[in-house]
This record gives sequence, C-alpha cells and structure tokens, in this order.
Amino acid sequence: MIPFNKPPYTGNEEKYVIEAMRSSKISGDGGFGLRCQAWFEQTLDCKRALLTPSCTHALEMAAILINVEPGDEVIMPSYTFVSTANAFALRGAKIVFIDIRPETMNMDERLIEAAITSKTKAIVPVHYAGVACEMDTIMDIAKKYSLFVIEDAAQAIVSTYKSRPLGTIGHLAAYSFHETKNVTSGGEGGLLIVNDEQFVARAEILREKGTNRNQFFRGMVDKYSWVDIGSSYLPSELQAAYLWGQIESIDELINSRLHIWELYHELLLELKMKKKIDLPTIPNECIHNAHMFYIKVPNLDVRTKLIKHLAADGVMGIFHYVPLHSAPAGMCFSRFNGEDTFTTRESERLIRLPLWYGLGSQQVKLIAGSILRFFS
Ligand SMILES: *Cc1c(COP(=O)(O)O)cnc(C)c1O
Repeated sequence: MIPFNKPPYTGNEEKYVIEAMRSSKISGDGGFGLRCQAWFEQTLDCKRALLTPSCTHALEMAAILINVEPGDEVIMPSYTFVSTANAFALRGAKIVFIDIRPETMNMDERLIEAAITSKTKAIVPVHYAGVACEMDTIMDIAKKYSLFVIEDAAQAIVSTYKSRPLGTIGHLAAYSFHETKNVTSGGEGGLLIVNDEQFVARAEILREKGTNRNQFFRGMVDKYSWVDIGSSYLPSELQAAYLWGQIESIDELINSRLHIWELYHELLLELKMKKKIDLPTIPNECIHNAHMFYIKVPNLDVRTKLIKHLAADGVMGIFHYVPLHSAPAGMCFSRFNGEDTFTTRESERLIRLPLWYGLGSQQVKLIAGSILRFFS
C-alpha cells in the first residue's frame, strides 16, 4: 500500500536529537530551540517567532493575545481544521463562517464585509494547501474596520503571496510542524509568528505560564514572577532538535515535494482537459510549497468509488475536511453567514493523493495511472 503520508526525515534529525538528549537542557528554549527561532526570525523578518507544542497552541495564544472575549465574533472559512475554530471558541467567541472560492478552497474575501458586525474582532484566513488567500483585500478590510488578522498558515511554510512569506502578513500567524506537514518537529509542534510589535512581550509571558521568566533570563528584570495569565506553551528541546535537522534540509524537502506535485499535475492534466476532473489552481501572485496535491471529481459518489478503486490498486487516497458548520460542535459555536454555495459541494468532490518526502516518480506514475484507468 502506498501510504497517504510518511513523516519527513532527512538524516540529521537523529544526530541532533541525541545531541539534545546529552546536553543538560532538554526543556524548552535550549540551544536548538533558540537556533530554530532565530532562523525563523531572520528568514521571515518578523518581530518574534516562538516555537509552540503545536499549531493549535499557537492559534490559542493568538486568540488570547488579541483579547478575544465571550460574545466576540471571528470570521473564517468553514472548510478548515477544527483548531482554527476551537482556538477562538475556547475564549467564548462566536465563529462566523463564510464560503470559499472553489478554485483555491480558500475563504472568499469578497464575502468578508457582509459578515462583519459590531462584535467582529478578527479575520482568520487559512492558506489551504499552502496557497495564499487574497491577503491584500483581507488586510484592507481589516484596516477599514479595525480588525485583527490571524493567519492560519499551518500548511504554508515557505509559500509566498506577492513575494511575501505567508505568516508575515497578518498581525499574528501560526505554522504547524505536525508529522503530516512539510516540515515536522518530531511529530507535533508549531510556531507563533508575531508581526505586530505590541504583542511581543505578552506573547513571551503567555508562553512561560504567565511569568516574566524570559525577561528575567535576559537580565531585563531582577525577579521572576507571575505577571499575567498564561500556560505551558513551550515545546521540548528534543522537538526543536528534530526541527533543526529539517530546517537545515528545508530546500531539499520542499523541492522534492514540488517535483512530485508537478509530476502529478503533468500526468493528470489530460483528465482536466477532458473535463473529468479539476486540478488545484495557483493564482499568479502565489508561490506554493506543494503541501498537498488534490483532485476534484464530479461528486461524492464518484469520489467514494475512486477511493475504493485506488485502494484496490494499493493507493491510499483520502478526503479532507468535513465543513465545520455541519459538525455537532459547529452548530453550537458558529453560524454560517450567507449561502453555502461551494463549501459543502467542493469539499465532497475533493480527494488528496499521497505526497511525501521520498515518494518516488514511479509511485506517482502508478497512482496517476490508476486514476486515468478509473476514468477511461
Ligand atoms: C494541521 C493544521 C492545524 C493544526 O496543527 P497542529 O500542529 O496539529 O495543532 C491547524 N490548521 C490547519 C489549517 C492545519 O492544516
């Protein structure tokens, strides 16, 4: 069976994890943690980059930092992972979903303004498959209504919008280093990216259980005390060590994925030409990171049959998000603003194909061949 995912591993991770284990510092913000953060701060040119135990935690930190309170509303797509919504629902916010654009599966920025009320606090664009949302429009609307923008850039490391790295455009952003993402910190992990100076000091405090421990170690204050709410949002040094091994090989990790993505695209293009399937669209202003390769078939019934057909050929193809507004918790914590024209329909047509570091060209040809046979 060709699995849907294999966690990326490039070779040096083991050496660095052992190095971390043998050092006398294995809790958060050790040598590897600081090295990773410095790399992100330099590469992204952001105000602060803080490793977290997951992207979920980074999103939770973002919700606390912008002071989301019960009754506030947060606008996002319904076609996303639960954590995008949970981070804000945990603070008592009402989640306001809007429809997506079928060509990218990203929030339709033209529907944002109609969803804004006096209670709206933030907009949360999700860069699906590492392809950017229409950020210029989103930032203009946020400015006009004094809203915060938190990018869920979980899938979007290395991707850009008009040459700007995703995660550096909103006030705050989050990356994921889960084993299913392009880069992992040993299975679980994330990053909070702070682009607005006003959040830097509080983000550090929040992450250190509400203490000024970080400032204390830098000699900025003479005692270490409880100064605000907070939690344990530091990952272990072992996770950072694994991540450092991946960061060192990041070009190879991404280029190899792009090669696989291009090959899928080339092999399946004839099916698109014959109008049997749809392929992902990459807008001109976006450079993507080949996080995902998906196709869209005519409907749910065809998808179910294709997944079975692929499984019989030893290939794991899988569907993705079930829209959150239709989930049991979605009914409690959210409302869908406007019409659901594309969210449900497009999510039922989508199937993701195996894409992981080390997947060979022969395997990609076998998978594409199986799909071509299905439609012939
Ligand atoms: C993976 C993912 C998350 C959650 O990431 P974790 O690191 O597993 O918490 C959140 N949002 C999106 C869009 C994701 O793809």
